[in-house]
Amino acid sequence: MINGSVDALHHQFIPDPLLKEHNYILQISSDDIACVEKYRATLAAGTARFAEIYYNYLFDHPEIADVLYSHERSGGDIGDLVRNELQFMLGLFSVDDAARESELIQAGAKHSARGVRPVWAAGAYRLFLDFLRELIVGLDISSADRDRLESVILKLVLRDLGMISDSYWRARLDEYREAFNHVSVQYECVDDLLAGLPHLLWSVDVKRNQIIYANYPLHAIYSSRLESPFPFLADMNAEDQQQLLTVWQEAVNGKRSTTEVRMSLADGAEHWYRLSLYPSLSRRGRSAQVYCLLEDINRDISQRKQLEQLSTTDSLTRLPNRALWGDHMQMALAASRRVPGSQVVVISLDINQFKMYNDTLGHKLGDLLLREVAKRLDSVVRESDSLARLGGDQFGILLQPVNDARTAAERVITQVLDSFDMPFTCADKQLCVSVTLGVSCFPDHGASEETLLMNAESAMYRAKRNGLPYQFFDPGSDVSPAEQLRYSGQIQSALDNNEFELYYQPQVDLRTSSLTGAEALLRWQHPLEGTVLPQRIIPVAEQLGMISPITDWVLVTALRQCRDWSYVGSSVPVSVNVSARSFQSPRLVDKIQWALQEASVSGEHLEIEITEATLMMDLERAGEVLARLSDFGVTVAIDDFGTGYSSLSYLKRLPIHTLKIDQSFIMDVAFDKQDIAIVRSIIDLGHNLDYKVVAEGVENGMALDMLNNLGCDAAQGFHISKPLPQELFSSWLSTSSWAV
Ligand code: C2E
Ligand code: MG
Ligand code: MG
Repeated sequence: MINGSVDALHHQFIPDPLLKEHNYILQISSDDIACVEKYRATLAAGTARFAEIYYNYLFDHPEIADVLYSHERSGGDIGDLVRNELQFMLGLFSVDDAARESELIQAGAKHSARGVRPVWAAGAYRLFLDFLRELIVGLDISSADRDRLESVILKLVLRDLGMISDSYWRARLDEYREAFNHVSVQYECVDDLLAGLPHLLWSVDVKRNQIIYANYPLHAIYSSRLESPFPFLADMNAEDQQQLLTVWQEAVNGKRSTTEVRMSLADGAEHWYRLSLYPSLSRRGRSAQVYCLLEDINRDISQRKQLEQLSTTDSLTRLPNRALWGDHMQMALAASRRVPGSQVVVISLDINQFKMYNDTLGHKLGDLLLREVAKRLDSVVRESDSLARLGGDQFGILLQPVNDARTAAERVITQVLDSFDMPFTCADKQLCVSVTLGVSCFPDHGASEETLLMNAESAMYRAKRNGLPYQFFDPGSDVSPAEQLRYSGQIQSALDNNEFELYYQPQVDLRTSSLTGAEALLRWQHPLEGTVLPQRIIPVAEQLGMISPITDWVLVTALRQCRDWSYVGSSVPVSVNVSARSFQSPRLVDKIQWALQEASVSGEHLEIEITEATLMMDLERAGEVLARLSDFGVTVAIDDFGTGYSSLSYLKRLPIHTLKIDQSFIMDVAFDKQDIAIVRSIIDLGHNLDYKVVAEGVENGMALDMLNNLGCDAAQGFHISKPLPQELFSSWLSTSSWAV
């Protein structure tokens, strides 16, 4: 197609035979030729002088002289060249048409090859013509012959020049055709290559806003729309069309630009493409052309989405994972910061005894249960709020900014707890599952996502320790993450440096008004912070796995103290608090036995205090541990009774000796009817089960009297004595009316 058009061009401009046509058009007649013949010898003789004029002409023009020198530089001889050219010019009067035609055609070709321009030949012929006319004027011939001779010479000069020019351009056209053919072959190769690409590729002339080139796929798909620089524009998503305009403007301004766009396919489905625009710059820095590439990236996008989903979704429950939940939290906090007075609620939720389900039912059913729990939670959490699985059996619930965090949190918590009233069915098994929740609120309980989650977790662990279904974060009771970090490295060194100390608080019998024992309470004499209370130490130690050495130290220290008092004649049984983690340690009983032996104290002088929640964690094991302790006379008290499950039905089965009523009921027992009723019923229940009932937190005589009236067995509290360091307790022993 391309070659064909070049050939047609060739024939159109260079018809054959050339000389004949020139003779015909210039009307060189046989009379003309005869006239030339007649004066040939005279003319030939006269032209000898023209050589000098011709030389001067050539070397007077620097451009022409340059061509001659470059001929010399490439190994040619200037003299030969000029002589040949001159000879050729003098062939103007040749009568052999065929030979002259061939000479003229070759001359044009040579001129083109050497860089001799047709106008230079015209200049040389002009000189020759002037020279000949002068020559003819000087000839002694008839005026008719002179006129004819002048006319025929002019026609011959025109013929030579026309022929040289024709052959010159024919040669140039051949060169061009060769180059063009070469480019065409390359073009076709590239076109074939681009046609095979799975992408659409085209270039746009910026000025004309038109496609200049389009590869085959673009032609095939959009043949009827190629007048637009973006033939697929109508199929594009409206938002992306706007984006396309932006990147197009960038490309026009000379910047490489890329964007991802969506297009509707014939079946209505949306498909992703990447459009890349590569500007080709004009001299003025603006794009003359923009090369455009449209690639199908649908698979990349769907893989990217899958990856994103994998990295943000929990694969088991399909809920958002901790990372995505963190993002949701960040957004909620940012939204709350914009609305002064608003709060964000963060809830941490843990399945109680999940480990037991996993261990007894197997991991498959454990997974199934987690999925069911996730579903149930999902059904109560509102769409606008965010539920996530944070890991293991821990879930997170985030409430969007609200004005009253406590009310909003309690509403959700109630719904969650209610939803767990119904048992779960997992592989034909009916499972009763309960959960514990901890709540923190932005901005009161922390400013960052990490702090808020950690504080919600701290509150949840406290709720678990206290056997409560949920707790709000309380800076006084929960240890902040910063505090955890601060104490983490210091607890071991506190043990090594003897910075821990025990305070003792007496417990007295209400009927006999005599001392029945002392509770050992931990204190940390921190070198920088002064006295640190146990509520700040125990949770950190539990979380850091450092509680066992502390419990061991307390046991040994308290029992040695008990022995020392016995040496001075005072029999003071000691009570030691055992935290949940320590109670679960399989070596607890052995350690207690060892500590008793080491201090040479009998088991009857030791009582351990455990919370209901701790016992409830694994009732069966608790039964075994308590039974073994009973074997060597150690008694067991339920501490802080009334704040947890308060379900005595399970206690019946355990060898428990004492109930310690939580101080929150005792503080106002002298005048609060409700507290009186609760305390009375706890005392009655305890007595029915043959337990000794002790009241904690007795701060005044009125409370003491009331407890006496209600039939409480023993009491402990500031009214009797604050917890005292060992030396002060020893003096208290010898001075207090309770102690004698
Ligand atoms: P707890 O076992 O219920 O101990 C009683 C707490 O009430 C003690 O606080 C005591 O100082 C305080 N208290 C006693 N009488 C009164 C009173 O009349 N009014 C008021 N307002 N408070 C009174 P403490 O010493 O700060 O201990 C707090 C908790 O830390 C203890 O509660 C116990 O659960 C835990 N704890 C203490 N020492 C240890 C220990 O060695 N190991 C473990 N695992 N926990 C310990
Ligand atoms: Mg206690
Ligand atoms: Mg207590």
